[in-house]
Amino acid sequence: MGIIDVDNLPYPDGDFYAFEDLLTDKERDRLHEIRAWLAAEVKPHAADWWNAGEFPHHMIPKVAELDVMSPVYRQGYSNLFAGLCHAEMTRADTSFATFMGVHDGLFTGSIEALASEEQKAAWLPDIYAMKKIGAFGLTEPLGGSDVAGGTRTTARRDGDNWILNGEKRWIGNATFSDWVVIYARDLEDNQVKGFMVDTKTPGYSATKIENKIALRTVQNADIVLDNVVVGDEFHLKGANSFRDTNKVLKVTRLAVAWQAVGQQMAAFDVARKYAVERKQFGKPLASFQLVQEQLVKILGNTVSSLGMMVRLAQLEDLGQAKDEQSALAKAFTTARMRESVALGRSILGGNGIVTDYGMAKIFADAEAIYSYEGTYEINTLVTGRAITGVAAFV
Ligand SMILES: Cc1cc2nc3c(=O)[nH]c(=O)nc-3n(C[C@H](O)[C@H](O)[C@H](O)COP(=O)(O)OP(=O)(O)OC[C@H]3O[C@@H](n4cnc5c(N)ncnc54)[C@H](O)[C@@H]3O)c2cc1C
Repeated sequence: MGIIDVDNLPYPDGDFYAFEDLLTDKERDRLHEIRAWLAAEVKPHAADWWNAGEFPHHMIPKVAELDVMSPVYRQGYSNLFAGLCHAEMTRADTSFATFMGVHDGLFTGSIEALASEEQKAAWLPDIYAMKKIGAFGLTEPLGGSDVAGGTRTTARRDGDNWILNGEKRWIGNATFSDWVVIYARDLEDNQVKGFMVDTKTPGYSATKIENKIALRTVQNADIVLDNVVVGDEFHLKGANSFRDTNKVLKVTRLAVAWQAVGQQMAAFDVARKYAVERKQFGKPLASFQLVQEQLVKILGNTVSSLGMMVRLAQLEDLGQAKDEQSALAKAFTTARMRESVALGRSILGGNGIVTDYGMAKIFADAEAIYSYEGTYEINTLVTGRAITGVAAFV
C-alpha cells in the first residue's frame, strides 16, 4: 500500500485502496525509485521554478539519466505502471509532469504512433536520450476545441518539399525545443498531416506566452510558420488525417486523467499534513469534524478517480480501451480534481493562496489540467455522443 514518508506522516496516502499492489514487484520497486528521485530532485525546488516562471534546463540531463522515457512502448511496462508514474510526477510538480507529458507523450507519442520505421530509427534514439527535446503543435489561435475540423495552418506540396504556413498557440516546450511536430491541412486533399519541423528552420518563430496563472514553469508558445520548408522525409508517414492524430490524443488524454489523480494525491498530502499540524481554538484543525469531512471528500474523489484509471489502464493493456472511455475519464477525474483542490485550498485558509505552503500551486495548476487535451465540456460531449448516438457538436 502507498504508505509514504514524503512528509514524515505515517498514515495512508491517497492510494487508500492500495491499487499500487497490482503492479509487479519490479514495477513497484521502480515506482518507488522514481518517487524518491522526485522527492529529492524536483519537489523541493518546484515552487521556486514556478514563481520565477522559468524552465529548469539543468534538469534535462538528470531526467535523461533517470531513464523514464516511453515506459510502455520502449520499456515494456504496463499502462498501470506508466499511469502511476505520471501521477507521481504530477504529485511532485504538475509543471514537471506536463513537460514530460509534452516531450514523452504528445511529441514522442506522435512519432511512435505515426512515423515510418525508418523515421523512428533516425529520430527516436536522441529523443529517448533527451538530447533532442520536442513539442506538439496542434492548437491554433482560432482553432481550439474545434481544431479537428478547423485546422487553418496549411501544408503545400512543392516537389520533394512541403511548405507550411500558419499559426499555433499554447505549444508547450516550444520556446526551447529542438523539434516540433506540426499538424497542418494539406491544401491538395484537405486532410490534416503531421510534420517534424526543426525549430531552426527559417520562417519558424516561437514566442513565450507570459503572465500565466497555471503551470508557470512550463514554457508555452505562440508559433508562427511563415513559408517554412520541410523535406518530404519529415512528413510523418502515418499522419495523413485527423483520425491519425487522434491515435496520439487518445493515449495522451489518459495521461492527463492520470495527472488529475496525481493532483488530488498532492492536494491530499498537503491538506492532511496542514490539518494535523495547524492549531486553532487550541486544537489541531484535524480535530474539527467539518475539516475531517473535507479531507475525506478529497480522499474519496482521489480513490474513485484512481480506481477508474486503474481499470482503464488494464483495458489499454488488453488493447480494448475506447476513445469515449478516455474522454469520460478525463472529464470525470478533472471535475473531481477541481473540487478536491478547492477543498484543499480552503483547509489552508489564507496560507492556501501563497505558494510557500504548497497548495496554491496545486490549486492554480489544476485549471490547466481541466482545460487542456480537450476541455471538460468537449470530453463530456464525446462521451455523450457514444452513449446516445447523437453528436451535440460537429
Ligand atoms: C497550459 C496549456 C498547455 C497546452 N499545451 C498544448 C500543446 O502543447 N499543444 C497543443 O497543440 N495545444 C496545447 N494546449 C491547448 C489546449 O489543448 C486547448 O486550450 C484546449 O483544447 C481548448 O481550446 P481553447 O483554449 O481554444 O478553448 P475554446 O475551444 O475556445 O473553448 C472555450 C470554452 O468553450 C467551451 N466550448 C467550446 N466548444 C464547445 C461546444 N461545442 N460545446 C460546449 N462548450 C464548448 C470549451 O469547453 C471552453 O470551456 C494547451 C493549453 C493550455 C492551457
